[in-house]
Amino acid sequence: MKYKNVLIKFSGEAFGDKGKPVNKRQVKLIASEIKELVKAKVKVAIVCGGGNVSRWKDVKKGDRVEVDLKGMKGGLKNVIPLEKALKEMKVKVQVFTSFSLNTKYPKFNYSKVTKALKENKVVIFVGGTGHPFFTHDTAACLRALETNAEVLIKATKVDGIYSADPTLNKRAKRIKSISYKSIIAKELKIIDSVAVALAQENKLPIRIIKWQEGNLIKLIKGKNLGSIIK
Ligand code: UDP
Repeated sequence: MKYKNVLIKFSGEAFGDKGKPVNKRQVKLIASEIKELVKAKVKVAIVCGGGNVSRWKDVKKGDRVEVDLKGMKGGLKNVIPLEKALKEMKVKVQVFTSFSLNTKYPKFNYSKVTKALKENKVVIFVGGTGHPFFTHDTAACLRALETNAEVLIKATKVDGIYSADPTLNKRAKRIKSISYKSIIAKELKIIDSVAVALAQENKLPIRIIKWQEGNLIKLIKGKNLGSIIK
Protein backbone atom coordinates (compact mmCIF):
# COMPACT_ATOMS: atom_id res chain seq x y z
CA MET A 1 0.00 0.00 0.00
CA LYS A 2 1.27 3.47 -0.87
CA TYR A 3 -0.45 5.08 2.13
CA LYS A 4 -1.14 3.62 5.56
CA ASN A 5 -2.54 6.67 7.31
CA VAL A 6 -4.81 9.08 5.47
CA LEU A 7 -7.27 11.86 6.02
CA ILE A 8 -10.09 12.01 3.48
CA LYS A 9 -12.14 15.13 3.05
CA PHE A 10 -15.60 14.70 1.58
CA SER A 11 -17.47 17.79 0.56
CA GLY A 12 -21.09 17.92 1.63
CA GLU A 13 -22.04 17.43 -2.03
CA ALA A 14 -20.55 13.94 -2.08
CA PHE A 15 -23.51 12.84 0.07
CA GLY A 16 -26.20 14.17 -2.22
CA ASP A 17 -27.74 12.87 -5.42
CA LYS A 18 -30.94 13.12 -7.46
CA GLY A 19 -32.00 16.42 -5.89
CA LYS A 20 -31.59 15.18 -2.34
CA PRO A 21 -28.86 16.80 -0.22
CA VAL A 22 -28.30 13.48 1.54
CA ASN A 23 -28.99 10.42 -0.56
CA LYS A 24 -28.96 6.97 1.11
CA ARG A 25 -27.29 5.29 -1.86
CA GLN A 26 -24.45 7.82 -1.84
CA VAL A 27 -23.95 7.40 1.91
CA LYS A 28 -23.76 3.61 1.49
CA LEU A 29 -21.31 4.00 -1.36
CA ILE A 30 -19.03 6.21 0.74
CA ALA A 31 -19.26 3.73 3.63
CA SER A 32 -18.40 0.75 1.46
CA GLU A 33 -15.40 2.54 -0.05
CA ILE A 34 -14.17 3.30 3.47
CA LYS A 35 -14.67 -0.32 4.46
CA GLU A 36 -12.38 -1.35 1.57
CA LEU A 37 -9.64 0.89 2.96
CA VAL A 38 -10.06 -0.52 6.46
CA LYS A 39 -9.85 -4.05 5.04
CA ALA A 40 -6.58 -2.99 3.40
CA LYS A 41 -5.32 -2.01 6.89
CA VAL A 42 -5.29 1.73 6.20
CA LYS A 43 -5.90 4.08 9.13
CA VAL A 44 -8.71 6.34 8.02
CA ALA A 45 -9.73 9.72 9.37
CA ILE A 46 -12.48 11.68 7.66
CA VAL A 47 -13.68 15.27 7.57
CA CYS A 48 -17.22 15.70 6.27
CA GLY A 49 -18.22 19.06 4.90
CA GLY A 50 -21.60 20.68 5.30
CA GLY A 51 -21.76 22.72 2.11
CA ASN A 52 -24.84 20.77 1.00
CA VAL A 53 -26.66 22.38 3.94
CA SER A 54 -25.20 25.90 4.03
CA ARG A 55 -22.21 27.62 2.47
CA TRP A 56 -21.22 31.24 2.91
CA LYS A 57 -19.86 31.50 -0.64
CA ASP A 58 -23.31 30.57 -2.02
CA VAL A 59 -25.35 32.86 0.24
CA LYS A 60 -23.14 35.88 0.86
CA LYS A 61 -25.98 37.59 2.72
CA GLY A 62 -27.18 37.74 6.31
CA ASP A 63 -25.05 37.45 9.39
CA ARG A 64 -21.81 35.77 8.31
CA VAL A 65 -21.18 34.16 11.68
CA GLU A 66 -24.71 32.67 11.76
CA VAL A 67 -24.41 31.35 8.20
CA ASP A 68 -21.01 29.84 8.98
CA LEU A 69 -22.39 28.20 12.09
CA LYS A 70 -25.12 26.60 10.01
CA GLY A 71 -22.51 25.28 7.58
CA MET A 72 -20.44 23.78 10.39
CA LYS A 73 -23.48 22.18 12.03
CA GLY A 74 -24.64 21.02 8.60
CA GLY A 75 -21.95 18.35 8.52
CA LEU A 76 -24.00 16.40 11.10
CA LYS A 77 -26.65 15.72 8.44
CA ASN A 78 -23.99 13.75 6.56
CA VAL A 79 -22.09 12.26 9.48
CA ILE A 80 -25.07 10.72 11.32
CA PRO A 81 -26.13 8.51 8.36
CA LEU A 82 -22.48 7.77 7.49
CA GLU A 83 -21.77 6.53 11.01
CA LYS A 84 -24.92 4.39 10.87
CA ALA A 85 -24.00 2.92 7.47
CA LEU A 86 -20.46 2.08 8.66
CA LYS A 87 -21.79 0.41 11.81
CA GLU A 88 -24.21 -1.64 9.71
CA MET A 89 -21.20 -2.79 7.70
CA LYS A 90 -19.45 -3.75 10.95
CA VAL A 91 -16.81 -1.05 10.59
CA LYS A 92 -15.63 0.37 13.93
CA VAL A 93 -16.14 4.12 13.94
CA GLN A 94 -15.84 7.05 16.32
CA VAL A 95 -17.15 10.56 15.64
CA PHE A 96 -15.65 13.69 17.21
CA THR A 97 -17.06 17.20 17.07
CA SER A 98 -14.98 20.36 17.04
CA PHE A 99 -17.39 22.26 19.30
CA SER A 100 -20.45 21.47 21.35
CA LEU A 101 -23.12 20.40 18.87
CA ASN A 102 -25.60 18.96 21.40
CA THR A 103 -25.06 15.43 20.20
CA LYS A 104 -23.96 12.15 21.72
CA TYR A 105 -20.55 12.63 20.10
CA PRO A 106 -17.59 13.71 22.22
CA LYS A 107 -15.65 16.86 21.51
CA PHE A 108 -12.25 16.58 19.83
CA ASN A 109 -9.65 15.30 22.24
CA TYR A 110 -6.17 14.59 20.94
CA SER A 111 -5.42 11.55 23.08
CA LYS A 112 -8.86 10.01 22.50
CA VAL A 113 -8.53 10.52 18.75
CA THR A 114 -5.05 8.97 18.73
CA LYS A 115 -6.35 6.01 20.79
CA ALA A 116 -9.29 5.46 18.44
CA LEU A 117 -6.98 5.41 15.41
CA LYS A 118 -4.60 3.00 17.17
CA GLU A 119 -7.59 0.73 17.76
CA ASN A 120 -8.16 0.82 13.98
CA LYS A 121 -11.40 2.76 14.28
CA VAL A 122 -12.45 5.03 11.47
CA VAL A 123 -12.45 8.50 12.96
CA ILE A 124 -14.91 11.07 11.64
CA PHE A 125 -14.59 14.77 12.40
CA VAL A 126 -17.62 17.01 12.23
CA GLY A 127 -18.11 20.73 12.85
CA GLY A 128 -15.27 22.08 10.70
CA THR A 129 -12.65 24.02 12.63
CA GLY A 130 -15.35 25.13 15.05
CA HIS A 131 -14.82 28.75 13.96
CA PRO A 132 -16.50 30.95 11.39
CA PHE A 133 -14.54 32.42 8.47
CA PHE A 134 -12.92 29.05 7.78
CA THR A 135 -13.80 26.11 5.53
CA HIS A 136 -13.90 22.34 5.79
CA ASP A 137 -10.80 22.21 3.57
CA THR A 138 -8.90 24.01 6.31
CA ALA A 139 -10.47 21.78 8.96
CA ALA A 140 -9.37 18.76 6.93
CA CYS A 141 -5.80 20.03 6.74
CA LEU A 142 -5.77 20.71 10.45
CA ARG A 143 -7.11 17.25 11.28
CA ALA A 144 -4.70 15.61 8.82
CA LEU A 145 -1.84 17.23 10.73
CA GLU A 146 -3.30 16.33 14.11
CA THR A 147 -3.73 12.69 13.10
CA ASN A 148 -0.30 12.53 11.50
CA ALA A 149 -1.76 11.56 8.12
CA GLU A 150 0.70 11.03 5.27
CA VAL A 151 -1.64 12.73 2.85
CA LEU A 152 -4.81 14.79 2.74
CA ILE A 153 -7.10 13.38 0.08
CA LYS A 154 -9.78 15.73 -1.18
CA ALA A 155 -12.44 13.62 -2.87
CA THR A 156 -14.41 16.02 -5.03
CA LYS A 157 -16.42 16.50 -8.22
CA VAL A 158 -13.48 16.96 -10.60
CA ASP A 159 -10.65 14.55 -11.27
CA GLY A 160 -7.86 16.96 -10.45
CA ILE A 161 -6.42 20.37 -11.22
CA TYR A 162 -6.57 21.63 -14.81
CA SER A 163 -4.61 24.25 -16.72
CA ALA A 164 -7.98 25.88 -17.59
CA ASP A 165 -11.64 25.12 -16.95
CA PRO A 166 -12.08 21.76 -18.74
CA THR A 167 -15.80 22.40 -19.27
CA LEU A 168 -15.00 25.57 -21.25
CA ASN A 169 -11.67 24.72 -22.82
CA LYS A 170 -11.15 21.38 -24.58
CA ARG A 171 -7.40 21.90 -24.56
CA ALA A 172 -7.29 22.15 -20.78
CA LYS A 173 -4.80 19.62 -19.44
CA ARG A 174 -4.76 17.87 -16.10
CA ILE A 175 -1.83 18.99 -13.98
CA LYS A 176 -0.49 15.89 -12.25
CA SER A 177 1.71 17.73 -9.80
CA ILE A 178 1.75 21.36 -8.68
CA SER A 179 3.55 23.27 -5.95
CA TYR A 180 1.76 24.85 -3.00
CA LYS A 181 3.12 28.19 -4.09
CA SER A 182 1.69 28.09 -7.60
CA ILE A 183 -1.72 26.87 -6.51
CA ILE A 184 -1.98 29.80 -4.11
CA ALA A 185 -0.72 32.23 -6.79
CA LYS A 186 -3.19 30.93 -9.40
CA GLU A 187 -6.09 31.40 -6.94
CA LEU A 188 -7.67 28.16 -8.13
CA LYS A 189 -11.03 27.39 -6.57
CA ILE A 190 -10.38 23.68 -6.25
CA ILE A 191 -9.16 24.07 -2.68
CA ASP A 192 -9.16 26.81 -0.09
CA SER A 193 -5.85 28.69 -0.07
CA VAL A 194 -5.77 28.86 3.74
CA ALA A 195 -5.71 25.05 3.76
CA VAL A 196 -2.94 25.03 1.16
CA ALA A 197 -0.85 27.51 3.16
CA LEU A 198 -1.21 25.35 6.27
CA ALA A 199 -0.23 22.24 4.31
CA GLN A 200 2.75 24.06 2.81
CA GLU A 201 4.04 25.12 6.20
CA ASN A 202 3.85 21.55 7.43
CA LYS A 203 4.88 19.79 4.19
CA LEU A 204 1.63 17.85 4.01
CA PRO A 205 0.87 16.63 0.47
CA ILE A 206 -2.68 17.15 -0.79
CA ARG A 207 -4.17 14.84 -3.37
CA ILE A 208 -7.24 15.96 -5.32
CA ILE A 209 -9.23 13.08 -6.77
CA LYS A 210 -12.66 12.57 -8.22
CA TRP A 211 -15.16 11.07 -5.79
CA GLN A 212 -16.10 7.95 -7.69
CA GLU A 213 -16.47 4.27 -6.83
CA GLY A 214 -13.12 2.51 -6.62
CA ASN A 215 -10.92 5.59 -6.76
CA LEU A 216 -9.87 5.67 -3.12
CA ILE A 217 -8.58 2.12 -3.07
CA LYS A 218 -6.82 2.63 -6.42
CA LEU A 219 -5.05 5.67 -5.00
CA ILE A 220 -4.08 3.87 -1.81
CA LYS A 221 -2.63 1.05 -3.89
CA GLY A 222 -0.42 3.54 -5.69
CA LYS A 223 -2.30 4.66 -8.83
CA ASN A 224 -1.34 8.18 -9.81
CA LEU A 225 -4.89 9.58 -9.78
CA GLY A 226 -5.93 13.24 -9.92
CA SER A 227 -3.41 15.89 -8.96
CA ILE A 228 -0.96 16.25 -6.14
CA ILE A 229 -0.11 19.53 -4.43
CA LYS A 230 3.28 19.34 -2.74
N1 UDP B 1 -17.60 26.74 7.84
C1 UDP B 1 -17.04 27.57 8.81
N2 UDP B 1 -15.93 27.14 9.49
C2 UDP B 1 -15.34 25.95 9.26
C3 UDP B 1 -15.89 25.11 8.26
C4 UDP B 1 -17.02 25.55 7.56
O1 UDP B 1 -17.53 28.65 9.05
O2 UDP B 1 -14.34 25.62 9.91
C5 UDP B 1 -18.85 27.14 7.20
C6 UDP B 1 -18.69 28.15 6.06
O3 UDP B 1 -19.84 28.97 6.02
C7 UDP B 1 -18.69 27.25 4.85
C8 UDP B 1 -19.73 26.21 5.23
O4 UDP B 1 -19.50 26.00 6.62
O5 UDP B 1 -19.08 27.96 3.71
C9 UDP B 1 -19.61 24.91 4.51
O6 UDP B 1 -18.25 24.51 4.52
P1 UDP B 1 -17.50 24.15 3.15
O7 UDP B 1 -17.88 25.13 2.09
O8 UDP B 1 -16.08 24.00 3.45
O9 UDP B 1 -18.23 22.76 2.88
P2 UDP B 1 -17.92 21.58 1.94
O10 UDP B 1 -17.67 22.10 0.56
O11 UDP B 1 -16.72 20.92 2.48
O12 UDP B 1 -19.14 20.74 2.04
